[in-house]
Amino acid sequence: MPHKNDGSNDRAGRTVALLQVDGLYLERGGQAILRGVSFELWPGQVYGLLGRNGSGKSSLAYTLMGCAGYTPSAGRILLDGRDITHLSITERARLGLTLAWQDPARFEGLKVRDYLSLATQQPSRERLEEALEAVALFPSVYLDRAVDDALSGGERKRIELAAVYAMQPRLAILDEPDSGIDVLSLDDIARLVRRMAERGTAVLLITHRDEMVPVADVAALMCEGEIVRVGEPQAVRAHYARRCRPCEVAGPVEPAGGDYERL
Ligand code: ATP
Ligand code: MG
Repeated sequence: MPHKNDGSNDRAGRTVALLQVDGLYLERGGQAILRGVSFELWPGQVYGLLGRNGSGKSSLAYTLMGCAGYTPSAGRILLDGRDITHLSITERARLGLTLAWQDPARFEGLKVRDYLSLATQQPSRERLEEALEAVALFPSVYLDRAVDDALSGGERKRIELAAVYAMQPRLAILDEPDSGIDVLSLDDIARLVRRMAERGTAVLLITHRDEMVPVADVAALMCEGEIVRVGEPQAVRAHYARRCRPCEVAGPVEPAGGDYERL
């Protein structure tokens, strides 16, 4: 379990979290999407962010990464105690932030080996093979495939995760790494996330599948743009299963007076 001493020091020499998010608000199309999101993430920690469709998880990921159109209207994002709220996506990437997209991009004509080489510092055959093996893909089968539509959704997802693994970022934001992955393969993804954390990467693990939550050190539940519960992963998982999943089955809840009001 990560400890505060694993954090870095700010300019005043205080131990600070790798990532500190303070009261983040985001509006899009006149709608409040994030409503005062705060949390912190330490090196080597896996922070599970659970929430049903439309709760704002991807919007939070894009805001942290600094994607165009996702400038917060209030709040701050600190990396090593330094305010990065208004840095560009490129500057954040240079500082060690990376995002594995919910729907990975396709690159016509680009081979898996080239795609992974771009992500890897000092790429070598061994490093590329290790990255593919970390996502349970045979290098001999995949290195010369193109990262295009000929790959299945699950394969593309794994290859994107292999690139993040190879990159060894300081912070990996994984937006639903389990989507398009069948239940039997969830263990592969869970193992990969733990391996990243063991190498010192802080992982923000976004999911709406509560089976993924035990891999986290701490979990949070997002609902309508707010973090409504934080704590021990099994407790948050149980709460989600009890209070949120039935809502998905039953359809949308009423905006006022519905189950969410009582979360
Ligand atoms: P999922 O589990 O389906 O991936 P999510 O938790 O990632 O969902 P987001 O994609 O962050 O949810 O979307 C959060 C909410 O913001 C949704 O209700 C979405 O419709 C809304 N939203 C996103 N972009 C805009 C926009 N440009 N204008 C209005 N609403 C938007
Ligand atoms: Mg999403």
